[in-house]
Amino acid sequence: MGAAETLLPRIFAGRVFAGRAFAEIARRNQGKSRMSRRSTGLMKAALSALHYTGADGMLSPLTSGVGVIFTLHHVRPETPGDFQPNRILSITPEFLESVIKFVVERGFEVLSLDDVEQRLSEGEFDRPFACFTFDDGYRDNKQYAYPIFHRYGLPFAIYVPTDFPEGRGDLWWLKLEKVVRALNTIEVKMHGTWTSFECRTAQQKDAAFDRIYWWLRGLPEKEAREVVADLCRLHGIDVEHLCRELVMNWDEIRDLASDPLVTIGAHTRRHYALAKLSASEARQEIEESVRRLETELARPCRHFSFPYGDLGSAGPREFELVRELGLKTAVTTCKGLIRARHTKSLTSLPRLSLNGEFQKERYIKVMLTGAPFAIWNAAQRLTLRPQASADAHT
Ligand SMILES: [Zn+2]
Repeated sequence: MGAAETLLPRIFAGRVFAGRAFAEIARRNQGKSRMSRRSTGLMKAALSALHYTGADGMLSPLTSGVGVIFTLHHVRPETPGDFQPNRILSITPEFLESVIKFVVERGFEVLSLDDVEQRLSEGEFDRPFACFTFDDGYRDNKQYAYPIFHRYGLPFAIYVPTDFPEGRGDLWWLKLEKVVRALNTIEVKMHGTWTSFECRTAQQKDAAFDRIYWWLRGLPEKEAREVVADLCRLHGIDVEHLCRELVMNWDEIRDLASDPLVTIGAHTRRHYALAKLSASEARQEIEESVRRLETELARPCRHFSFPYGDLGSAGPREFELVRELGLKTAVTTCKGLIRARHTKSLTSLPRLSLNGEFQKERYIKVMLTGAPFAIWNAAQRLTLRPQASADAHT
């Protein structure tokens, strides 16, 4: 048999395997952006199958985009311990550097957000581009990520919720992690009934975090935050300085912003899911954060990132609001590469998360072909009602 005859069935098998795995994940998660441990394992297997069978390469001419915007949160050395529900939000400096090298070696041009906007507006797609964006303004971005970008002379952006540098940010998802880590049993009044969660083992803690987190995501923002604040108070868990410890203050942000490689974008004031607010509240959240950044940094703010960024947190109303307020680009956490058609939707750009669960070069290589998104979307269409796949929760 010739090479083609042996290769094609293998590629087909890789694609079928990935399709089945994605359908199974879709069934299990019902559109939730955080995957359980088992689903994460299945996703890794599917991406590996695409890589090792060559199915990604076979698909790439049909599916690849004109560029990619990466989502990052924390960059720091790995923290030990089995219970790490927010692991998806953290990658190591070594992995970041390997991704930078990978995209540069493959001919991607690393662009600032201003350049992305220009390229999309002008429709110039001779070379694929990559753009690195960080959400929330964590101090580790300055400590671990900035020196890498500086060394390579490459641009990146940080989106800051403007309450955070004041130390007033409510990082409730990290507070919840502290609560679940500290306790062996948690009692929460869910839907009017007291529900008790055993959380002695890492597995029980994962399950408890998952249930409570997704229940909270469905509540109005203020209510959800009160539940977590009450748990902290009740159990004496100290979270008073969490925001100051983790997020850069204005002096640190100004210092970073003085480097022309760094763009600072807005990420609302209080990090609320804008779609849950009234139109005027949503507008205020966006506008106040933009004005505040412009005052603090003495320069125009042209770029925005939607908190949480999934379709339940930002939709057509928010995309339009951002456009009306004069922002040039806005990013979501809906998964995908940038395609030529996005020239018409600059305020709802998809991103690709550099996710702590997927710190292998082969996963990035496969995702950059666009193949997983094509198969993922097909699997979603077959399994569930159509829905966009959002990624990390912030
Ligand atoms: Zn965020």
